[in-house]
Amino acid sequence: MAPETPGTEPQALSNLLHENRRFAPPADLAAAANVTAEAYDEAAADRLGFWERAADRLTWAKRWDTTLEWNPPFAKWFVGGQLNIAYNCVDRHVEAGRGDKVAYHWEGEPEGDSRTLTYADLQREVNKTANALQELGVGKGDRVAIYMPMIPELPIAMLACARIGAVHSVVFGGFSASALKSRIDDADAKLVITADGGYRRGAPSALKPTVDEAVAECPQIEHVLVVRRTNQEISTYDRDVFWADIVERQSDQHAPEPHDAEDPLFILYTSGTTGKPKGILHTTGGYLTQTSWTHNAVFDLKPETDIYWCTADIGWVTGHSYIVYGPLANGATSVIYEGTPDTPHRGRFWEIVQKYKITILYTAPTAIRTFMKWGDDIPAKFDMSSLRILGSVGEPINPEAYVWYREHIGAGRTPVVDTWWQTETGAVMISPLPGVTSGKPGAAMRPLPGIVADVVDDQGQSVPNGGGGYLAIREPWPSMLRTIWGDDQRYIDTYWSRFPGMYFAGDGAKRDEDGDIWLLGRVDDVMLVSGHNISTTEVESALVSHPKVAEAAVVGATDPVTGQAIVSFVILRGSVEESADIAAELRNHVAKTLGPIAKPRQILVVPELPKTRSGKIMRRLLRDVAENRSVGDVTTLADSTVMNLISEKLPSAKSED
Ligand code: ATP
Ligand code: MG
Repeated sequence: MAPETPGTEPQALSNLLHENRRFAPPADLAAAANVTAEAYDEAAADRLGFWERAADRLTWAKRWDTTLEWNPPFAKWFVGGQLNIAYNCVDRHVEAGRGDKVAYHWEGEPEGDSRTLTYADLQREVNKTANALQELGVGKGDRVAIYMPMIPELPIAMLACARIGAVHSVVFGGFSASALKSRIDDADAKLVITADGGYRRGAPSALKPTVDEAVAECPQIEHVLVVRRTNQEISTYDRDVFWADIVERQSDQHAPEPHDAEDPLFILYTSGTTGKPKGILHTTGGYLTQTSWTHNAVFDLKPETDIYWCTADIGWVTGHSYIVYGPLANGATSVIYEGTPDTPHRGRFWEIVQKYKITILYTAPTAIRTFMKWGDDIPAKFDMSSLRILGSVGEPINPEAYVWYREHIGAGRTPVVDTWWQTETGAVMISPLPGVTSGKPGAAMRPLPGIVADVVDDQGQSVPNGGGGYLAIREPWPSMLRTIWGDDQRYIDTYWSRFPGMYFAGDGAKRDEDGDIWLLGRVDDVMLVSGHNISTTEVESALVSHPKVAEAAVVGATDPVTGQAIVSFVILRGSVEESADIAAELRNHVAKTLGPIAKPRQILVVPELPKTRSGKIMRRLLRDVAENRSVGDVTTLADSTVMNLISEKLPSAKSED
């Protein structure tokens, strides 16, 4: 690092992007908001008391003795307390007379294929499934791998596991046999729950053959429980049991046994953007406390009137926390959609919003940028006047994508909540509150009440306003991971070694002049250009702010002059033709927006970007391309052919200076 002014401290991360747009909460939303600004003061005055009140929103079979036991870095929350998660998510709503309320509107990918489950339906299905699991010899503490399409049996299976105290490990249905096998082995699962297949991109896509291939080498698997979804032809084995045969004949009564607040609930492997996935362990009481509190606060959920849709796959943490556990604990009515946004046409999402009169929509920046690329005219064809709150998660949302989302999906009326969190954090940590915060496009704003997050420098000191650095969390939180499954040492090394006493999230961030937090991407991706640490996010946001660009990814490539130089990969908006001078135009645009230091050396127009199966850009592969290396591990990539398309583009890339 080489600060230009002698005597000033080098910055861990430069702060280049300045954004002046502000969006105050709508007055009616603010007036009726579930959570007001007082929550920040209450939590600051008594953090544990704040989380105790949040835990009291749940129904406990036995109240806890100790709110937090903290033996850094190992936390136990609500110690001595007992509860049943399935009871909290299902039965208690039925007991309260809300059995006829819809829990899930399920929309299959083939048009017209839909199902509705009320809370009473869900209770019967979960009970039958819990009985079936017990008949199959699954008991408390056993691990169950779940490899399913987005059908109602997926949350039912998860809740049935939770009900009996079995630990589920949901593996995203797009993963290969070897990825599934390694996750089955790591968790030592004894049962796999799957389906023959699911519908994707207009056709049945098979799952069972992948399970067969994985399980052939997993002797610990006793049974494979199979849902028939597509009725495609599949091979069967002695270990196979069909859902229709075993679940349907069970009693729909099942007594929910209380479980310890610290009993394991699930293992979930991270999406593998940076490397080998980690088996993140979440437990019972603290996890449900924070997922339900945040779902109520961040989305201002009114269970009587809202129709909520989170478009994530349940195979990722967003689906666990904000399709299954948070919304159900709050008695919400949710939509689940099985398929892809462009099947059978590119307006499918907006058609679903219109059909169910969705009020709260939660999706990812990668989807938003795709919709920008497809064009404004598509959402304009649908009536989306029901929407009142929009959410974003998964990557930093570029200011331009935020404003597009607000205007073209939310008609300029809806607050956008940019929610920062991780598989490891279990629930949202940093986010605006829609009835409180004046939103800034691109900023995650403030830690939620009860969360002590900070931006620190190399020494772990808080950076002043206007400074950039590392995102760290200073105090334990209820839904934090408890460890990496079977590997406490990796847990300590990965999260608690960089800054003593603090959880290090792996992300860069800055604090603006008002003290609000902006996420700047992964620190592994930071580019060191002429002594300045430049974040990928700021350069990408500058590129996306150009009217011709829909999506951008930048990486630092070794450069003889500047140490590293910025290489940009961009996708143009739908109607834009690639022209000879586009690279110069975009390079100048970035220099004008962020300053000459951030001017990319190269711009490559590409048809697609390498993304993980959860839709996140994998910059390390682009770095390989930019430095002319052979491309590294692509196993977590959604489409490995994308890298060939990008590599082909390389010879045409020229530096303009
Ligand atoms: P791995 O840890 O295996 O590389 P991953 O980090 O992609 O995988 P997740 O836990 O699904 O797995 O993603 C969490 C990460 O996603 C965060 O650390 C951050 O980099 C990014 N992220 C999520 N939400 C936001 C957000 N609102 N703003 C910025 N970044 C976000
Ligand atoms: Mg991660």
